[in-house]
Amino acid sequence: MLTNRQLFLRYLAQTSSAPMMLEIIRAEGVFLYGTDGKKYLDLISGVSVSNVGHSHPKVVEAVKNQVGSYMHLMVYGEIIQSPQVNYAERLAGILPPQLDTCYFVNSGSEAVEGALKLAKRFTGRSRIIFFKNSYHGSTHGALSVQGSELYRNAFRPLLPDTFQVGFNDEKSLDSIDNNTACVIIEPVQGEAGVIYPENAFLEKIRKRCSSKGALLIFDEIQTGFGRTGFMFAIDRFGVIPDILLLAKALGGGMPLGAFISSKEIMSILVSNPPLGHITTFGGHPVCCAAGLASLNVIIEENLVESCNQKSALFKMELIHPLISEVRGEGLLLAVQLIDPEYVQFVIANAPDYGLILDYFLFCSNAFRIAPPLIISEDEISMACRQLKMLLDDAMNNPKKK
Ligand code: PLP
Repeated sequence: MLTNRQLFLRYLAQTSSAPMMLEIIRAEGVFLYGTDGKKYLDLISGVSVSNVGHSHPKVVEAVKNQVGSYMHLMVYGEIIQSPQVNYAERLAGILPPQLDTCYFVNSGSEAVEGALKLAKRFTGRSRIIFFKNSYHGSTHGALSVQGSELYRNAFRPLLPDTFQVGFNDEKSLDSIDNNTACVIIEPVQGEAGVIYPENAFLEKIRKRCSSKGALLIFDEIQTGFGRTGFMFAIDRFGVIPDILLLAKALGGGMPLGAFISSKEIMSILVSNPPLGHITTFGGHPVCCAAGLASLNVIIEENLVESCNQKSALFKMELIHPLISEVRGEGLLLAVQLIDPEYVQFVIANAPDYGLILDYFLFCSNAFRIAPPLIISEDEISMACRQLKMLLDDAMNNPKKK
């Protein structure tokens, strides 16, 4: 009989030649529990999803209650489903007033697709501006605005009339013109290795978009729900987009995405043609119930407020000869090492030290720290102790580098 490990390799499509290959039987709080009897401290929230930790009792209860009432009823947008309605109203209550109309979808990539279509349809233009080293997902539209030639090139032809510019590069503002439908940007670039905007870059883009009639899309799929020490990066920078994209932590551990805009912009999807975006499972009631429960926990337990103190603790403890920088705010941190080869060693061997770590797609000399926001100060100290032992191991054993 084949083991689960063998079945995994035999029957599941693989996306890399070196999957993590841990077999987990249970996850609770900040820990994953393996079939090997070991427990692993989750330092990535798989990825930036489990902001309230794994199996939070209030999220589990909401899921169970909703499953007991109903699951899928009908394609999106036809039947009034209280989990969708309640969650959309709650989101509108914590977002700027012009972001009050929510289209729930299944994933981050689908939110990107919906937003790009919405911007093209609303402006009647086709040009889309995106940024170098941006990541917006893996579907064709999202891939067309991914800031990496390596990933884009293999799948051409992609969406036409897309244009890549530099993040934090003032020259990029000139590319936003009267033919531009939208600018899509992560307010803090995640996969680039946690890169913050500088010199009021977002403000300048906002101004330029407004003056040219282009829509500004913020992809907060990774930064949303407290990750940067603010509920949204919108609050951190005081810049309001025309369309906001959410996913990952939006579903509290269940698959859910959303593109959110004003009633005026969103209403363009109603006619010519009608059903401007269609999704069967988007806004699944169980996912909305879980997401709303998770958001309530984030607010009730003041998780956003606690983030910066926790971040400071990581930065205070993570001092080591191999670490050249700990970058970021809140609980989205990039730990930069002096050599990318050490990064590979550290991530690959983290489970031996009871830790789960991960790469950034476009930043080979750093690894990610993005634990559930509920992580305690003792757990942070424990994580840092283990990490430093792992870094010692990497440093002292050149063969392992
Ligand atoms: N946008 C950003 C900033 C992301 O980090 C991701 C996923 O990592 C996506 C979009 C795509 O989301 P999904 O994987 O749910 O399609």
